[in-house]
Amino acid sequence: MKVHEYQAKTIFAKEGLPVPKGRVFRKEDLSVQGIQTVASSDYVVKAQVHAGGRGKAGGVKLVKTADEAFAFAKSLLGRTLVTFQSGSGGQPINQVLVEPASHLAKELYLGIALDREASLPCVIFSDAGGMEIEEIAHKEPEKILKKHFKPAAPLSVNDAKDFIKNFPFQASTRTQIAEIISKLTAIYVKYDISLVEINPLGVLDNGEVRIVDAKIVFDDNGLFRHPELAEMRDVAQEDLREVEAKKYELSYVGLEGSIGCMVNGAGLAMATMDIIKLHGGEPANFLDVGGGASLEKVKAAFTIILQDSNVKAILVNIFGGIMKCDVIAEGIVAAVKEVNLKVPLVVRLEGTNVEQGKKILAESKLKLQKANDLADAAKKVVQAAAG
Ligand code: GDP
Ligand code: MN
Repeated sequence: MKVHEYQAKTIFAKEGLPVPKGRVFRKEDLSVQGIQTVASSDYVVKAQVHAGGRGKAGGVKLVKTADEAFAFAKSLLGRTLVTFQSGSGGQPINQVLVEPASHLAKELYLGIALDREASLPCVIFSDAGGMEIEEIAHKEPEKILKKHFKPAAPLSVNDAKDFIKNFPFQASTRTQIAEIISKLTAIYVKYDISLVEINPLGVLDNGEVRIVDAKIVFDDNGLFRHPELAEMRDVAQEDLREVEAKKYELSYVGLEGSIGCMVNGAGLAMATMDIIKLHGGEPANFLDVGGGASLEKVKAAFTIILQDSNVKAILVNIFGGIMKCDVIAEGIVAAVKEVNLKVPLVVRLEGTNVEQGKKILAESKLKLQKANDLADAAKKVVQAAAG
């Protein structure tokens, strides 16, 4: 689960990290007087969306007066922001964060991500932070420092000092950075975070360190332990199809292609997407209906796939293992009747009770194309989507 910058900063402030004291405004409560309570001049106004790259996309601005801050905030609220991370549809701006501007002498990068290969969280630090960090990671990877740690042993301030020892910071700045790194490793574990990024971590003219930007992605599987975090979820920032899918416990990821996929098992779902691509098509989604897909779930899955107007054909690819093909077939027939399917449907069934399953499909008189194997299914669905 992603949260907004202002929410991440609220958590950081609670944990004692140095965060600017800002205020969040919605359209209804935006006012010049409200902005003046933040500072008397020099503001930074920031669109709150679940996507980075806001600066480059015109979603962040430094201004002198409260009137300018008001005008810029007003121009942001209610529109969408398209950034290089947001997808072409962009993200709606329903909140803006107004903070006293920090006088930055230097922009650092600090993040912690899960390194799946090492099976450990990894602290990532660079003194070349700011809006070009992706570029730097690509072209000058030696400027980016990494250190793994065990969740049971977050870094101490001394560990962190050692980690950044080769950077020429002045003593008090170094200590502050090390304290932030140390605390952040503990926060990462405490809140079941899967990714946290502070970019930039700002060094001010006077050597003080500030958290200028903040991003947190929580591990959904840990959220049951943090009901107060679950409340931070902003569904308006999420893909509507994914929100709907979550209600039915379907694993769904929205994509931009034209072939809707309904598959059981994550591995088979990935293989299905691969083979669609191999045959020149583009999947509209990843969807794993799970091992024990009920009629309810199959129906919900069809409905979600069909809500996507890009979908020109659907491929159902089911391997009946724990699930039996006849049950799946009944689910497909009932769901297709109920959702009033108008796009071509290709079905590949294999596994337990496959003959009964095929019989149910044949007797239903549904208009569908049967596929013999995965390659045949992919060919047929790509053709159906194109024609
Ligand atoms: P992002 O583009 O979505 O990552 O948004 P950021 O919050 O990181 O803002 C983008 C850039 O704006 C930062 O890299 C800074 O260069 C600049 N910026 C943001 N806040 C401040 C601030 O308070 N003072 C100064 N001087 N620059 C800021
Ligand atoms: Mn940033």
